[in-house]
Parts: sequence; C-alpha cells; structure tokens
Amino acid sequence: TEPPATATRDAVTEVLNRVFGYDSFRGEQEEIITTVADGGDALVLMPTGGGKSLCYQIPALVRPGAGVVISPLIALMQDQVDALRNLGVRAGFLNSTQDSMARREVEKAFVDGELDLLYLAPERLRLESTAQLLDRGKIALFAIDEAHCVSQWGHDFRPDYLELSALHERWPEVPRIALTATATKATHTEIAQRLNLGAAKHFVASFDRPNIQYRIVPKASPTKQLLDLLRTEHRGEAGIVYCLSRASVEKTAQFLSDNGIPAVPYHAGLDARVRATNQSRFLREDGLVVVATIAFGMGIDKPDVRFVAHLDLPKSVEGYYQETGRAGRDGQPSTAWLAYGLTDVVTQRKLIENSEGDTAHRRKLNRHLDAMLALCETVECRRVQLLNYFGQSGKACGNCDTCLTPPQTWDGTVPAQKLLSAVYRLDHERGQHFGVVQVVDILLGKQTEKVSQHRHDELSVFGKGTELTESQWRGVARQLLAQGLLDVTGEYGTLALTDGSAEVLFKGREVLMRREPEKVARTSTSRQS
Ligand code: ADP
Ligand code: ZN
Repeated sequence: TEPPATATRDAVTEVLNRVFGYDSFRGEQEEIITTVADGGDALVLMPTGGGKSLCYQIPALVRPGAGVVISPLIALMQDQVDALRNLGVRAGFLNSTQDSMARREVEKAFVDGELDLLYLAPERLRLESTAQLLDRGKIALFAIDEAHCVSQWGHDFRPDYLELSALHERWPEVPRIALTATATKATHTEIAQRLNLGAAKHFVASFDRPNIQYRIVPKASPTKQLLDLLRTEHRGEAGIVYCLSRASVEKTAQFLSDNGIPAVPYHAGLDARVRATNQSRFLREDGLVVVATIAFGMGIDKPDVRFVAHLDLPKSVEGYYQETGRAGRDGQPSTAWLAYGLTDVVTQRKLIENSEGDTAHRRKLNRHLDAMLALCETVECRRVQLLNYFGQSGKACGNCDTCLTPPQTWDGTVPAQKLLSAVYRLDHERGQHFGVVQVVDILLGKQTEKVSQHRHDELSVFGKGTELTESQWRGVARQLLAQGLLDVTGEYGTLALTDGSAEVLFKGREVLMRREPEKVARTSTSRQS
C-alpha cells in the first residue's frame, strides 16, 4: 500500500504541536495516527503509559466528524473530557452517570457537528437509540479502548463489548482503532477475531518497562515486610498496594495509617462517594498510598506512582503486568514488589475449583496461574520471563531481584520424595482430607492430636524430615505445587499427586529448587532517602 500522504503527516504533527503541546511522537504513534487518519483500521498493543490516547484523539481531530470512543472506564470519563476541554478540544460523553439534560446537550452537539470526541459507555451500544443518534451525526472513527475486554476468557471481560462487531456492520466505512495494554498472543488473536479486525494493521510496541524494578519475595509477615519496604525505600512516595480481599484491603490501609504512612482503602464494597474521594485524593495529593483490590487502577493516569506492591498472588501474568505497569509512568525508577507464599497457591487453586464455568474455563484459569507461579519461582531474570510471556525477547536486565541477587538452586529431589511419599500414604485413606499442615507435621515427627487420632505416627515417613524446618518444608511444598509436581484439590486444600509426582517418586526424576536469598539487596536504582 501507499505510504501515508505527506499531507496527513503534516496535519497530524501540527495537531500534536498546537493542541497537545508536544514536540514529537513517541514510538509508533506517528505510524498509527497516520494510518487511522487516512481511514485505515489499526490494532494497537502498547503498555500502560505508552501513549495510546493520542493514537485516536489526533485522528479524530484531523478527520471530519467526531471520534466515537468506547471505554469501560465510566468513572474517568468526566476527567478525560475535562482535560480535553482544557486543551480546547470539543469533547463530551454519554453514560449512566449524567442527567437527561446533560445527555441531550451532548447529543445535540454531536448531531450539529460540534464535537471532536464522543466518549461512550459500552452499555449504550445495546440501545437502538444510540445507533439512531450515531446515524444523525458524522462519525470520524471508532476507538475501542481497553479492547481486551472483548476477550471472554480474560480477567476484564465485558459482555457489552461483544456488541462492538455490530458497529462495524452498520458503519463499515468508518475506520476503527482498537487499543489495549494486554498483549499475550491469545488475547491479541481473540481481539482481532471478535472485532473482525483481520485486515487492520497491527502495531505491537515493546512491553519492556526498564525503569520498573521487579521483585518477588517469600511471604512471611506480609504487612510488616511491606512497611519495611515503604519506610526504607519509598518514604513519602505515592504507591498502590493490591490485596485479594476487601477485608485485607481495610486491614492493611488501617495498619499503614497506624504506622505513620498515609493510606486510604479502595474496593467495590465501599460507598461510591468514598471511592471517588479516595481515587481523586490519590490523583491529586503527593505521597498517598492506596490499598485496593484490583477494582482500582484501570485508566488511572498518575505519572509518579513510585511503587506497586502485591500482598497476594495475582491470578495471571497479564493482570500482574497491568497492575505493576501503573508504577513509573514518568520513566523514573519505580518498584514492583510482590510477596508470595504457599497459602497463595492453595487459595488460588481453591478459587479456581469453586469458580463458575466449565472444565475448559477452569483449565484456562489454571494455566494462567501456572504462568504466574513460574514467574515467581524462576531463577532467571524476571523481566526476560515477563517479556517472553508476551512473545518478546530480552537480555538479563540487571534491574530485578534475580539479576541483582541471583538465587542459588539446590537439589531438592530427596525432600521432594519424602514429601510426596507422605502425600501418597495419606491419599490412600478414603474420605479424609489432609493439607500441607498435616503433611509437614508428619515429616517433622510432631505428635499432634490430629497425628495421633489418625495414627500418622505409624507411617514410615513419620519424623523422617527433621533436616528441614517447618518453613523450609512449606517452601518445598510451594515449589512442588508451582512446578506441577503436586496438586491441591477440594475445599479443604487436600494435597494430591500428579503425573509428575509419580516420576519423582518412582522414576528418579530430579527436582531443582530455588534457595530463597536471605534478603534482596537494595540497589543503586531503588530510591533511598
Ligand atoms: P496509555 O493510555 O497508553 O496508558 P496515555 O495515553 O495516558 O497512555 O499517555 C501516557 C502519558 O504520556 C500521558 O501523560 C500523555 O500525555 C503522555 N504522552 C503521550 N504521548 C506523548 C508524546 N508524544 N510526547 C509527550 N508526552 C506524551
Ligand atoms: Zn533481570
């Protein structure tokens, strides 16, 4: 195809300078913007903070009509529109939060050709009145933000996004641009298929975020570990702490506040007004910490988030990458810190087992978790592992915990055999459910009530594991789970053998384990005060 006309390049650069006040495009922005400005379709995969918004805003400004932006981030539409209006861009939004007068005003502006950008909540796509409205005005383009929401297996699936293919059927001549920061091959393919973007130009930016230092530490007393991190490296700085449950969000926010770190909670169970206040305080104040469930963060554009901490294991590498990507959008050194332990694996497996959906769905969730566990247990560079996951390559980075303090490995075959044979014995007691605690008690030869009651002190493995401590045994169990050499099932977290376990027990398969470094060295790039 023809390279985009020079006229288009001149026009988009002029808008970049005059309207947005920037000197030059970043990365592939110029290619993307000229493609869409010239009427082509584009599928854009770019990490958070990469500059996706300009990719549809500028084409909308140079093409006749209004750019229609579909975004699930209803809570942020007002802010986005205000920011654009401050730049002199004629922007408006339609969603459920506004009254009918405000809605009619925006509709009229669109029909009269007096809008450059119209933000639309996905649930409006279901309404025939929306289609009729769009028919009465001129559409410059369709921008589909957070396009991974169309993926049925992803963690952000929005059923309304399935309606997006209807837009294309009704207005086939209008160019479309789909954007996301989620970039695995599978999601990429699914977006292209579901949105019928086979003929679109694909733009895949590098997913490396060199200024983010990735660290994953064994979980001991997580809130104390977190406090230590914040006090020694991020005093007075803004950050996000992710927890799995609302209860732990509240508890952790309180704990930080009690210890002199300004922190507010954020989760879906809080009153909408409290949530909005906490979010805007985080955006506007310096050095505030938000403790949140993953309900917080999509679309949050705060450049100086210095750290993202996870107190619980994320469900997938995609989620982890998106959440940690909220750190350091300004390019300054930032920390992505995760504390992870055996209980996380058990909890997550249980959640998957009890989740809705069919076997195929659960298998998928388990595969996502496996990839996350592999990242946690790797002895290689975390960044290389992350980039590989997104189908990109890289060199050992020198700015992650495994590069800075390479973990030693040790031959864990014998302990693995001991632990697995304990599980093997227990497996044979019908109707009983034994988890990690019981297995470790048996290995250590502890005469607990439960041990006596089930006569586990008569097992041949009883007391045969005193060479390791309780926490080391839990580490062995965690790594066996992560390596697929052990499984956990049922609501009691019952341990069970896998095909891999049989190879270890009966075929002499060796097991390499990661020796946890005592303490990860702090580094030149981490900011100390
Ligand atoms: P994303 O949506 O990909 O997370 P944004 O569109 O919010 O990223 O952009 C991230 C930040 O980078 C914003 O503050 C934006 O103004 C800025 N930005 C984007 N493109 C440029 C550019 N070409 N020059 C300078 N700053 C830019
Ligand atoms: Zn590294």
